[in-house]
Amino acid sequence: MSTQSQDIRSEVLQILQCFQLSEDKLKDISDALEKEFVRGLGKDTQEAASVKMLPTFIVDTPDGTEKGDFLALDVGGTNLRVHHVHVDKELTTESEEEKIPEEKMTGRGDDLFDFIVDKISAFIDSQKLKDQVLPLGFTFSFPCQQKAIDKSILIRWTKGFSCSGVDGKDVVQLLKEAVDRKQGFKMGPVSVVNDTAATLMSCIYRNKKCDIGLIVGTGTNACFMEDMRNVQCVDCEDGQMCINTEWGAFGEEGSLKDVQTDFDIEVDKKSNNPGVHIFEKMISGLYLGEIVRVVLVKLTEDELLFGGQISDKFRPSVLRVLKTPSQFKTEFISEIEEQDKGPENTVEILNKLGLDFSRDLGRDWVEENVKIIRWVCKTISTRAAHLCAAAVTTIAMRIYANRIYANRGEKSTADRNITVGVDGTVYKKHPNFKKELEAMVQQLAPELHITFQDSEDGSGTGAALTAAVVQRLQNKKAE
Ligand code: BGC
Ligand code: MG
Repeated sequence: MSTQSQDIRSEVLQILQCFQLSEDKLKDISDALEKEFVRGLGKDTQEAASVKMLPTFIVDTPDGTEKGDFLALDVGGTNLRVHHVHVDKELTTESEEEKIPEEKMTGRGDDLFDFIVDKISAFIDSQKLKDQVLPLGFTFSFPCQQKAIDKSILIRWTKGFSCSGVDGKDVVQLLKEAVDRKQGFKMGPVSVVNDTAATLMSCIYRNKKCDIGLIVGTGTNACFMEDMRNVQCVDCEDGQMCINTEWGAFGEEGSLKDVQTDFDIEVDKKSNNPGVHIFEKMISGLYLGEIVRVVLVKLTEDELLFGGQISDKFRPSVLRVLKTPSQFKTEFISEIEEQDKGPENTVEILNKLGLDFSRDLGRDWVEENVKIIRWVCKTISTRAAHLCAAAVTTIAMRIYANRIYANRGEKSTADRNITVGVDGTVYKKHPNFKKELEAMVQQLAPELHITFQDSEDGSGTGAALTAAVVQRLQNKKAE
């Protein structure tokens, strides 16, 4: 290796240093998150807490005796999904999905709900369900202050959504109004759930045991069953309730100030919700590509990338491409980091972006650039996995503490087992995320035995199962 490329490599590593988080630092982050959890659960502190620890009014989980036909609706990512779920010991599901057009995500709330209702109506027609009134499980994956299982008030939009007229409103009511406007179908009783809760419910149904519902996709978040005695804002001391942590908002209170890099700050500033959901912006799919992109801009400006022998004519056009927001998709990170095909994929992606520099550079220089780009991706995705690990550990420790409390201080080996049900593209599609997450969780909580389970379409079936559990509890009450 030439001294020039050696110098470049060490300068790049120095720039990437700010993304490295030591085990001690991750433990500090986990402790700070625990403090926010406590504030979020406290009656007088929730208002000011960044991590809201939202009650979901889910007080029971599937026990396998649920029966019936349900509709499920999943809103919260890029796609809108509608499912027909038949529950009877096993699940059978029919479903349809459609990309939500950008203008529906950012336009008038009424238009979004009309779009949703049109989709449900068309699905009901195609499934020949027109003369049935089915209970509806509605996965709505945004922070909501839930007042009851069928009353859920949007606190704020996250991810790419920003429709007007929905903040502070009950989304079930908005759905009902759209159904009335459209007269498309007759809506049954609704159960609203967050995607984390839906994931938890579907993993419990499939595997009997699951303690945490985790999403690492477009956004990130987790939920778990918390002891009611800890949930101060609900007047009940017995049993448990699923708590939607909304950990994506962590950092708004300032605990991540020294972790947030200049690159993170830039990504936050240019996002459609600056200043909020700081933790999410370091972890989830909507942002990872952007972080990589702004790092690549910096490296190019410093002539550490596309530098050296490249013609000066070429650099402005490289920068023009790299400076275009959302140019660098998070899925590229997965392709670039692939063990075997990674280097080849990197060149392909650069070409696709219009950064075909192989003519300008010699082969060695292409290799050097590819190596640097792969480092950048690996650094950003590893940090995301480690931050996620710190947060999973925080919840796992809480669950363990609750179990010890229930056992009157006694610690048992079985109580150390914690299962996490996971969904989301970053977790499922990235070649290293899972591995990095598992390894770090093990390091941060060696006394626990934390295992991860892939969830299969938890958002849809989980919502239907929640509606099924609600129905079971109601039938029992009526008996
Ligand atoms: C939302 C959460 C959701 C998560 C994963 C976040 O942006 O605030 O409610 O669970 O994304 O979809
Ligand atoms: Mg309570």
